[in-house]
Amino acid sequence: MEEIKKILDFIDRVGLYPDIKAISGSATPEVVINGRKTLLFSSNSYLGIASSDKLKQAGIDAINKYGIGTAGARLLSGNLEIHVQVEKEIAKFKHCDDAIVFNTGYMTNVGAISAVMNLPKIGPSSFFKGTGIIFSDELNHASIIDGCKLSNASVIIYKHVDMKDLEGKLRWQRKRRKLIITDGVFSMDGDIAPLDKIAELAKKYKAMVMVDDAHATGVLGKNGSGTPEHFNLTQDDIDIMMGTLSKALAGAGGYVAGKKDLIRYLRVTSRPYIFSTSMPASNSAAVIAAIREIKDHPELIRRLWENANQLREGFKERGFNTLKSQSQIIPVLIGEEKKAIEAARILFERGFFAPCVRWPAVAKGQARIRFTVMASHSEHQINLLLDEFSKISKELGIIN
Ligand code: PMP
Repeated sequence: MEEIKKILDFIDRVGLYPDIKAISGSATPEVVINGRKTLLFSSNSYLGIASSDKLKQAGIDAINKYGIGTAGARLLSGNLEIHVQVEKEIAKFKHCDDAIVFNTGYMTNVGAISAVMNLPKIGPSSFFKGTGIIFSDELNHASIIDGCKLSNASVIIYKHVDMKDLEGKLRWQRKRRKLIITDGVFSMDGDIAPLDKIAELAKKYKAMVMVDDAHATGVLGKNGSGTPEHFNLTQDDIDIMMGTLSKALAGAGGYVAGKKDLIRYLRVTSRPYIFSTSMPASNSAAVIAAIREIKDHPELIRRLWENANQLREGFKERGFNTLKSQSQIIPVLIGEEKKAIEAARILFERGFFAPCVRWPAVAKGQARIRFTVMASHSEHQINLLLDEFSKISKELGIIN
């Protein structure tokens, strides 16, 4: 405990302990924090449907039918009809043979990567543990990094979205079992992975491909199916289509969609699936309702993109650096940690909530405010943010 205390003292001294804010109510553009109305520009409920009456009703109906918890893992007594239904809906939405759901996106990455790369031994010499190699983009999410660790595979990090670097690294590993993993939309930078080029390289060097579409599900592609749809790729090109149910789909959990054998395999090898109680029925029902909502209301995705473009272009016009953002995740680079913390603090004081992201989450000197927009923000709310943030940034000398 003494060592823990020392670490906490250090975190406090350098001002890294996060100020965790409690929000009353659901993820809507205007929320109440500390009893005060605040405009929320940091939610991942990109389509703004977390508070939709249809989703809520679907959850309530499922509670009435199935109760609160499931009291069992999927392989035991926790496999409800609604779980089978949600997986079918996801498979259709992803244009794949089948899908499997996990309780969180984090568990999905950990469970899928470790199962696919840490093959159980069968027969005398067919498969060997730990002989695979994972090629992972340097900005991939922490849950991918942890999944890689648990897989016992060797991990080679390639430079962010750098296809030359990736190919150079693949070229030297012809004989080994290979998996390339990338975020679809990067969670801190908001740029889109060149999945078409990754798929080409994967074919050339006989590697599998996995994409984490946490921030692309319900966002990219003409039906909101994600990064593969955006690039016209199918399950023949992308072996493992992972995503979360916790962002645009407004619930909680994660999925893997793909070919029949991949999903059958995960059901008997993925430890977070086997050893954890299944997700509440209300969550599965709400996710089914969310997928239907996306199908019935294509204008939600259109609105999200209009809002994302308004905010990103607005920042750029005012002289801010939005890095390589191409999506609804819009970082504004401040650089110096102290200044970024101060900017986020004043912004909050003036009624807007968007967090400062700083070392160790990003490189030192690369501190930024990470803004996200929802389809439900109004043009007026976005303009209010642009005006206020410009004012603050002028006061702090971030822009002229
Ligand atoms: N992958 C990415 C790219 C993420 O950003 C996140 C969470 N923010 C996850 C996976 C984990 O998902 P969840 O929050 O549902 O556990």
